Amino acid sequence: MKRIRAVTARHPRRTLVFSASLCIVMALLSVLTLWQQWLDARDHAVETSVNVLTIIQKDIERNIELYDLSLQAAAAGVLDPTVMRLPNRLRDAILFDASARASDLGSLFVLDRQGNVLVDCKNDPPKAVNLADRDFFKVHVNDPDRGLFVSQPVVSRLAPGQRAIVLSRRVTAADGSFAGVAGIGIKLSYFARLFSSVKLHSTSAVALLNDKGMFLTRMPPNVKFSPGQSSVGPALLASMSAHGEGTITRTAAMDGVERLYVFRHLPQFGMIIVVAPSTEDVFGAWRSRAAIVAVLMVVFSAALLFVSVLLSVELRDRMTGEAAMRALARTDSLTGLATRRVFDETIRREWAIARRSARPLTLVFIDVDHFKSFNDAYGHMAGDEALVRIAGILAAGLRYGSDIATRYGGEEFVLVLADTTEEVGALIAERIRATVEDCGIPHVGSPLGHLTISLGIASYNGASAGRTEELVKRADQSLYRAKQNGRNRVASGGLVAA
Ligand code: GH3
Ligand code: MG
Ligand code: MG
Repeated sequence: MKRIRAVTARHPRRTLVFSASLCIVMALLSVLTLWQQWLDARDHAVETSVNVLTIIQKDIERNIELYDLSLQAAAAGVLDPTVMRLPNRLRDAILFDASARASDLGSLFVLDRQGNVLVDCKNDPPKAVNLADRDFFKVHVNDPDRGLFVSQPVVSRLAPGQRAIVLSRRVTAADGSFAGVAGIGIKLSYFARLFSSVKLHSTSAVALLNDKGMFLTRMPPNVKFSPGQSSVGPALLASMSAHGEGTITRTAAMDGVERLYVFRHLPQFGMIIVVAPSTEDVFGAWRSRAAIVAVLMVVFSAALLFVSVLLSVELRDRMTGEAAMRALARTDSLTGLATRRVFDETIRREWAIARRSARPLTLVFIDVDHFKSFNDAYGHMAGDEALVRIAGILAAGLRYGSDIATRYGGEEFVLVLADTTEEVGALIAERIRATVEDCGIPHVGSPLGHLTISLGIASYNGASAGRTEELVKRADQSLYRAKQNGRNRVASGGLVAA
């Protein structure tokens, strides 16, 4: 924590980057959690739907198996001449068992070779109806090996107005020849009653389709839908036909509701059971939760970024202020030269370098001559201007990079000349002295009539241990000698050596 604070305080921009990264990580974590919850909601819906599918499947299979047994009994019975010679009531009691009279059944009937109704459990005598054109008749004529066949939905001719599917079996004579068809109609209302017991959310649906995609029933009923006539869209049918069972998300053409279709084929009956909860039912709670999380994320991130921006602006201002303060402490406000503080740092640094590399180091102390009387004669302002002018000459007289001029205090300056011998220092000092004199700044208080400076030099040869204070002292002594000897001159000879 301490480290983070230290890093961000030093680099305001990093505060922003850190906050933005934090926001991104939090957003990613939220997305990951929401994604997991979305998967859970979906898995739960699929599991529930599969349970419903299984219950419906078991019920349909059990009932159709029972009806098939009745069908097989009737198909065998009509081939028995003894049974067929019995009085009709007795004959029917043998041919049609109790399940054939169940309320959801249409007729259980047997057709002869030509498709005429031979016996009909609900009509005695049977109606004079021929069903040779029906698909369930034709299929058994053409395919002797066909077992139980489930027809397309039809409008019954034996019980007019009723829509039903027909379960049928071939009646095969002892010699293997085609002897007719036994059929049993199952009203589509049977499936409607079966599905009505399934508890659903308002926008969810369950349906039973045949393998052509036609609805045998659908719950809840819909005005645009009629069992035995309406079909699902070809795209949905194609998707469902590709697998024995599965899950598809699609918007229903019938009512425009997006649903999760969980389906399973019953291939032996050519049927598909579909349980289709709407995505609103499946993901409604998740969506509300996701919306709240998203809003909180955005608000929190915005707040965090806002605070970070404020913080980084504050930090930047403070750093700028501190930098300005530091610069101020290092630059003399009047002359623009470096301050005494910079001189102290420089002399220590350059001394260490000189000592390490055994190279010379030279100091030049400079003091303006008779400056008190200059102030007295021309005023303090003019004195300031003269100091600025002399500072300019000092700065201009330096060699690029290695030398530095500082204001030591009042009207005193000092040059630090790195890697410079006393002789070279004396040449530089003399050139500066001459430049100031050549300026010809009038000074009535000076015997020469113009403003001059005195310079004292001291050098360190880099070979001895010594101390910086010694070098400063010797330069000061040289300056004192220059003053003593009449001012406007350079005095050297302050060598600090082993
Ligand atoms: P000497 O030749 O012996 O150096 O004589 P001096 O008059 O220069 O020496 P002294 O030390 O008596 O006087 C220095 C004067 O420099 C005193 C002071 O008024 C003046 N002075 C110091 N700092 C400034 C400054 O920043 N501006 C102005 N105008 N005058 C300054
Ligand atoms: Mg002085
Ligand atoms: Mg002076």
